[in-house]
Amino acid sequence: MYAKIIVDISHHEVNQLFDYIIPSAMEGFLEKGSRVYVPFGAQKRLGFVMEITDKSDEATKEIISCLDIVPTLDDEHFLMIEHLKLQGPSLYHELLKTVINPELFITYSKEVYAKDLTLIDEELRPFFNRKNIWKLKTKDQIYQHKLARLKRLKIIEIRTITKQKSDVKTETYYTFNQLHTYPRMNQYEHIKDLFHHHQECSKKALLEQGISSSTLNTLTKHHVLIPHEREVFRDPKHIFHELEKKITLTHEQEDAVAKIESSLDLRKTFLLKGITGSGKTEVYIEAIKKVIHNNQQVLLLVPEITLIAPMLQRLQPHVLNLFTYHSGLSKGERFDQYRQIQKSETCVVVGTRSAIFLNMEHLGLIIMDEEHDESYQQTEGVMYHARDIAKLRAEYHHMPLILGSATPSIMSMYLSEQKTYELLELTKRPFELQLPFVHYVDMKEELKQKNTTIFSRKLLSSILDRLEKKEQVMLLYNRKGYAPFVMCRSCGEVPKCPHCDISLTYYKEKDILKCHYCGYEKPFSKTCDECQEDKVKEVGVGIEYIESTLKKAIPHARILRLDQNVTKTKHSHEKIWHTFATEQADILLGTQMIAKGLDFPKVTLMGILMADLSLKVPSYHASEKTYMLLSQASGRSGRFLPGETIIQGYNLSHFAIQAVDKPYETFYKEALYERKIQDIEPFKKTAQILIQDQGFLKAYQTAFLLKKKLQALGIMILGPSLALIKRLKDMHRFTITLKYQQINPKEVFDTIDVLKKQTSVDIRFYPIIDLV
Ligand code: ADP
Ligand code: ZN
Repeated sequence: MYAKIIVDISHHEVNQLFDYIIPSAMEGFLEKGSRVYVPFGAQKRLGFVMEITDKSDEATKEIISCLDIVPTLDDEHFLMIEHLKLQGPSLYHELLKTVINPELFITYSKEVYAKDLTLIDEELRPFFNRKNIWKLKTKDQIYQHKLARLKRLKIIEIRTITKQKSDVKTETYYTFNQLHTYPRMNQYEHIKDLFHHHQECSKKALLEQGISSSTLNTLTKHHVLIPHEREVFRDPKHIFHELEKKITLTHEQEDAVAKIESSLDLRKTFLLKGITGSGKTEVYIEAIKKVIHNNQQVLLLVPEITLIAPMLQRLQPHVLNLFTYHSGLSKGERFDQYRQIQKSETCVVVGTRSAIFLNMEHLGLIIMDEEHDESYQQTEGVMYHARDIAKLRAEYHHMPLILGSATPSIMSMYLSEQKTYELLELTKRPFELQLPFVHYVDMKEELKQKNTTIFSRKLLSSILDRLEKKEQVMLLYNRKGYAPFVMCRSCGEVPKCPHCDISLTYYKEKDILKCHYCGYEKPFSKTCDECQEDKVKEVGVGIEYIESTLKKAIPHARILRLDQNVTKTKHSHEKIWHTFATEQADILLGTQMIAKGLDFPKVTLMGILMADLSLKVPSYHASEKTYMLLSQASGRSGRFLPGETIIQGYNLSHFAIQAVDKPYETFYKEALYERKIQDIEPFKKTAQILIQDQGFLKAYQTAFLLKKKLQALGIMILGPSLALIKRLKDMHRFTITLKYQQINPKEVFDTIDVLKKQTSVDIRFYPIIDLV
């Protein structure tokens, strides 16, 4: 027999399955998904068995050894890999790295636990120790079939024990030996007293009590104290306090909960569409309680790290085993969260996008909050949408998926109209609280009235009013940095990156100009390169500028800023949220990071500056993105007290902006119509291919050639056209757009591959448009 194997090397030269001979000793138990060691060149390499076959023309070498009793990759992993393969050409190894949690790339072993040994085959019983545990060794693989059967019958449990010593943190604990014979113990009565109430004390606690290390060493030496190492988990520290709310669900909430609860063992997708502040989170909590009660696990995804801490705070009173999994954790914390999740039959994990691949054997429910959010789409490397993976997993585990949003994605709304999803609606805020009243302020008018500042008179007076009433204000300005670019006021020259077709961004703090794409930077100079006049000045404003203007305008206000720059350090998300939530600040100014999900009862005013900014970004989905951003932002206001929203801008007539104070359906109809005209999803599927080269002509010709080849496959192709960024890192860039009902992705990828090899032009496939 032979095995097709992926070798643990990330390189396109070895991006293929390699055939190996299965040695006769392994035949019969080596399974698909197992990790093995194989000879590779002169090396011994880790590999993953992807397939077992009885024919091979290539295999010449034998597998050296197998590392797994139970395969590392199970059927669920293979399902996910198959899905990812259709999203774009990826290296096999990268696919594995996406679906297998990094924690499993380290060495680990398995142990078998049996509740009742009498149910175990007689032949196997001697392997179990007194605690009914059998630590599996590689040679035990011959029992694999028997173990698999016992596992299916739920007679045994097979547990994963992660072994990396350096990563498992331990602490020293001491017990007191009553039978000691140390004669000088009368000097240490106080220590004896300490152990009077506790069976054991940690070294840390003893040191904190003022007992010296040398005392501990002496007593250990004389066998008075018996030390032992105990495994401890590094839990991420949280600064919030438990918040217990007594809530009686509204009828709408009850209805939604009942429908979910009656479907907990069905493969079903719910779209929970509830206006901002209508209590979707309370519905999640009820559903979660039920799943936990059934001894299962729940995975809850949020789109931003900022939303993790508030969600944990809401869940804490209801959930005992509550964990998180996201990139804001240190490696050690993440590793320990992982191990605890694997140990907990019932638990809830709150995570961001990448947590969708988290290994959870007893999964009973996935919830995706703010399902419309674009951050659920992975846009680099192996590309995927967390929602698609969630659907796959829900199918696999025979469980429901809940998608929640006040502004569902067009696709999800469409699918719920088609009855593919079951729609659950919350149309009211509790206590009959109205959605905030929305004022539109035209800044052109302000200018006419001689107000040249960035704050309209209406906004400024409203902020002052809230400060007086001790209420809170949020301000959204969706642009990072200080000033996006600089321009010569004399000749109009805008300094650009020498490698990219992009104007350089100005960073006031460092006084430099920097390219956002390639990182090129140079010192800022007032002297224009073109006309030599000292007239180069910043144009437009960034959030840092708004912050400084706001401080000048309202010196007594306590202002907090939340954007990517201030959240680079660990736990800073949680600190800023907590500071504002505990009313230690009056105004929270931020980018789109503050627009979603957050629930601050004291906020009664949301101010949106330059609301038309995001419409100017060239994108197929500009109006959708704008509407969702503004509606979500507006929804932060008036969640407990009556509130208002002020939308400022220069051109507010666009439907995406005008729809903010209207029901979602108003927007949805328009957006769907727009898509119908463009003939894109949900009517046709689309994808995009980027073709780039240092030579302009070569890039264009290759793009054209690719178009012809794909057309020959019967696919409708638009382009080639220049990419939005025409030149990047010295490469000229063209795109072609694919439109289709159905394609065979492999055919497309193969075509790209052949052309890439022939021309050595860089060609990249993107499963959705708008990424290039
Ligand atoms: P959403 O997730 O839909 O934006 P939340 O679940 O955050 O809404 O609810 C908004 C606020 O209203 C929260 O502070 C929540 O505790 C409160 N709330 C939700 N449902 C109820 C209810 N039935 N009774 C009282 N308060 C509620
Ligand atoms: Zn550049």
